[in-house]
Formats: sequence, structure tokens, C-alpha cells
Amino acid sequence: MIPESFIQDLLARVDIVDLIDGYVPLKKAGANYAACCPFHSEKSPSFTVSPSKQFYHCFGCGAHGTAIGFLMEYQGLGFVETIKELAGKIGMPVPDDAPGVRHDDQGSSRGLLEVMTRAAQFYKEQLKQSPKAIDYLKQRGLTGEIAAKFGIGYAPPGGLKAAFVDYNDKRLAAAGLVKVGEDGRRYDYFRDRVMFPIVNQKGEVIAFGGRVIGQGEPKYLNSPETPLFEKGRELYGLPQARQGLRDSNVAVVVEGYMDVVALAQHGVGNAVAALGTATTAVHVQKLLRQVDRIVFCFDGDNAGRKAAWRALENALEALADNKSIGFVFLPDPEDPDSFVRTYGKAAFERKIAEAMPLSDFLLRHLAERCDLTSSEGKAKLIYEAKPLLAKLPTPLLRLQLVKRLAEASGFVQAEVERLCELKAIAPPAPAKAPRAAPSISRALLRLVLQKPALALRLPVDLLPDAAERAALIRLHDLAAEGGILAYAALRERLRGTPEENRIETAAAELLGLPFDEVEVDTEFAGVLTRLQEGGQKRAFAELQALVQRVGVSGLSADEKAAYLRLLSGRGKDG
Ligand SMILES: [Zn+2]
Repeated sequence: MIPESFIQDLLARVDIVDLIDGYVPLKKAGANYAACCPFHSEKSPSFTVSPSKQFYHCFGCGAHGTAIGFLMEYQGLGFVETIKELAGKIGMPVPDDAPGVRHDDQGSSRGLLEVMTRAAQFYKEQLKQSPKAIDYLKQRGLTGEIAAKFGIGYAPPGGLKAAFVDYNDKRLAAAGLVKVGEDGRRYDYFRDRVMFPIVNQKGEVIAFGGRVIGQGEPKYLNSPETPLFEKGRELYGLPQARQGLRDSNVAVVVEGYMDVVALAQHGVGNAVAALGTATTAVHVQKLLRQVDRIVFCFDGDNAGRKAAWRALENALEALADNKSIGFVFLPDPEDPDSFVRTYGKAAFERKIAEAMPLSDFLLRHLAERCDLTSSEGKAKLIYEAKPLLAKLPTPLLRLQLVKRLAEASGFVQAEVERLCELKAIAPPAPAKAPRAAPSISRALLRLVLQKPALALRLPVDLLPDAAERAALIRLHDLAAEGGILAYAALRERLRGTPEENRIETAAAELLGLPFDEVEVDTEFAGVLTRLQEGGQKRAFAELQALVQRVGVSGLSADEKAAYLRLLSGRGKDG
């Protein structure tokens, strides 16, 4: 566990504007900064960053968060990983570290990144001196421009000895560049191969893919997993594809790095590849954050079909109803590289546009394995569909599939649902109708977020029964516990609570408002007065009803005193 106080210190020391600007160039817009949103596709900027409150908010897609939230979303990292990365950026040691992350310079991520950068540079230089490697790339139709864009290099047979003064540097082995044999001898992992650096979203080289020139096994070789490189998370070509993804709102997932590079060479800039592994749910999530549609484009052979099916199985849980997935199978023996070289960009893009919908592929694949002329085969179809349907978080797509399964199997829709033990998926909450006194509660919430110390002065008993009530009480309790926090720290503190959306909505309202301490206090006092008056009115009405039933003499001493006080107060206010 990372202590709460550490997260607060971290947020106090990181500047969200600097952080985000490193990934998404920001422009000053009044008191805030703006950019086109990195989390949805848009033409005019609705992504706003508040330097004073240290949060971002997108008015287009609702993305919202602190520096921590941004890195988590942008890089698809977990909470703890993100904390570590942010802390590393500003050199804060993380207390109570999880095992596996070392802080000595030899094994630290920074140390490993250094040797990777050096190696990538060396491989690039070596390419210029290798006519054999240059020929290979030319034969593949690649220009120097594309080779440079992807940082393509060449690992000479002699390996990295010439690149590092100390070939015994432990970091070379830790980064997966050098293997240590049983006899203790060291040798290069990549030799005589064309090298494709694998770059993360920050532009850092974290691994390599190497392809043999001519014949030889294995044809493709990837870096082993290291502290920098986890295969199921990274996609080859993602940083280079960013613009293409944004322009097309579609990601094309292919099998190999040569496919990505060849497509880019022919003007298809939105392709990425999974790295020596099946497409994972993390890959799909990462992509769906940037685009609304993914098309998997695999070879038409058996291996390609298998890869596509694995991709489908892993994509299901990451799907949403406003997202779509398609599949393209190229005619055997083509792959995207050969296809685009033979038929060109337009033909390839036509294939992508005509991709088979996920539901078609799913049903075809299952139907191939079941004899749908027999009742056993029909039951088997439902049985095989069951675990897949269970993964789907999307009500519309699931319904569509259930209907088609019903058609194919001859069961009625309700039977399919029962056999697959499908539970109803809650429909997305409808836009909430305004409830009682929204203006007062909303104003209070906005004011407290503007100046969190005000939470202490919230009259909890008087708060109207509006949607913001729970959030206000949560903020009051937090402040009362001694935690008066700046907005970003509050937001992290409320991660995962039911109130977080309400608080984000109110915080977004702050973006248009200048902050003036005195005005905030005056406005808060004004709202409190209105609340108290409202409370008195209610109390007076209740007492008056009581008096009508039992008479003034029927009141208790306390009630009588309150009644007289309220009566005279009313006289005074008119
Ligand atoms: Zn957005």
C-alpha cells in the first residue's frame, strides 16, 4: 500500500500542465489550457487543464482526473505503477515499495532506458554501413524516410561490443540485449538482423524486434520480457500511428512489424501490431481509448484465423456499445505487407471498410464447429457461445448476438438467455432530472471544491435532499477528519466512491470561473443564509401546523420558545 500522505505530496509536487503538455501539446486558453482530447476523436479542443486546481476535464467525452488519472488513462497503467512512474519523474522515492522494482541504478528503469537508447542509436548507425540490410529494406519497398520514422536499424554479427565501453554492464542483460550462457559467456541476443525498436507512448525504446535477412530461424525475434517491456501491453507502431488513429478514428491491428511499416510506407498510417503474442484485452482497451473502431487484419491461413479468434475472445470484455470491431482475412497467401505492395492503399482501405462484423465472425466460427442440422449440434452452439456472451458488457451487442443465436439454433430468444444464464445488464443511467433545490446544493459543492476548507462549515443537517447531498457530506466528513485537501488530492481520495462523478461534474464548472478568495467566502455565506432561511421556513410551517392541531398551549416549552422566536424573526424580515 502506498500511504495516502505520499499521494498528496506527489500531487503537490507534480505540475499537471507540464505533465500533460509532454504528451499532448497544450495551448493557453484564459486561465486554463486546452487541447484536442487524447481520449476521443475531435476536431476542436474541448480538453481543458486547470493549472490552479490541477485537474483535466474534457467537455466532449467527460474524461476527468488528476495527474495520476491522466497517466493511468493515457498509458493504460495501473494505479500503483502510475504512482511509481510519476514519483520517478520528479525523483521522489516511493515508500513501501512492491518487490520487483529496484532502485539501484543498475536495474532501475532509467538505467535500462539509457542502454536501450544507446543500442537503438548504434543499430541505426550500423544500418547505414550494411549494404545487405539496406538492400533488404529497398526490396521491401521501404524508403529512408519511413526507415527513419520507425527508427529501423541493423544488428551486426559482432553485436553491441562496439557500442558499449563495458560489455559486462549488468544493464545490458537486464534490458534483454545480452544473454549470459551457462559457461558465463556473454553474447548478443540480436545478431545479423534488421532491427525494429519498440517504442512506448513516451517515445522511449523499451524493446526490439529483429528480423533475419534471407533465410534463418527464428524469422522474427522479440526482446524477452524485462522491467521495461511487458508483451501483453505494448503495441508496435502505436506512437507513430497516433495521427493516423486520430484522423481515421479506426485502428488496424496486424500481425507483424513489417506489416505496420509497409502499410505506413503506402500511406496507411493507422496500423499497429501486437508483439509476438495474441491481442490482449489491454491492447484493445488502449486502442479503444483513442478510436471508436478496431479492425483486425490477419492472414487468411489457419494461423491467421486462430489469431483472429484469440483477438475476438480477448476483445469482448473491452467492448462498449459505441465501439465496433471488424475482421479482415486476406486471401491466402497474402499478408498486409504483400497485399498493400501488390494492390495499393485504396484496395487495402476497401478491405478494411468491408470488414466482417464481430457478430458475423463469432457466429460463423462457432457454427463451423457445430452440426446445426442436429439438435445436439444446436445445443452445442449455445453451450460454446455461453462463456463469450458472459464476457460482453454491452447490452446492445449482446442482444444482437442472442437474437442471431436464437435464429441459428431454433431456440427462442428467452431460452438462449436462460441457457446462457445471462443476467440483465443495467442500462446506462438516464440523464438525471433536476431534483429539489439543485441550485443551492450545486453552488455549495462548487464552492467547497473551489475552497475545500469551507467543507468544515457545511451545515450537514440543513443540506437539501438533492443529488449533491451525499458528496457534500463526504467532503464535510473528510475535512472534519483533518483532511482539508486541494482538489486533486480530494479527487484521488474519492477514487472509487459513488460520489466521484458528482464531484467531477461540479469541478468542471470551476473551469469557467476565476478564483477570488473573498468572493468565494461571500458567496458561501450567502448560500448558507439562504439555507438557514429555508430551514427556518420549514420549521415554522411544521410548528404552525402543530399549533393548529393542539393550540399554543399544547406545545412543549422548547417548541413554544422556538415558535415565538420564529414569529418575531418573520416579523423582522417581513
Ligand atoms: Zn474527450
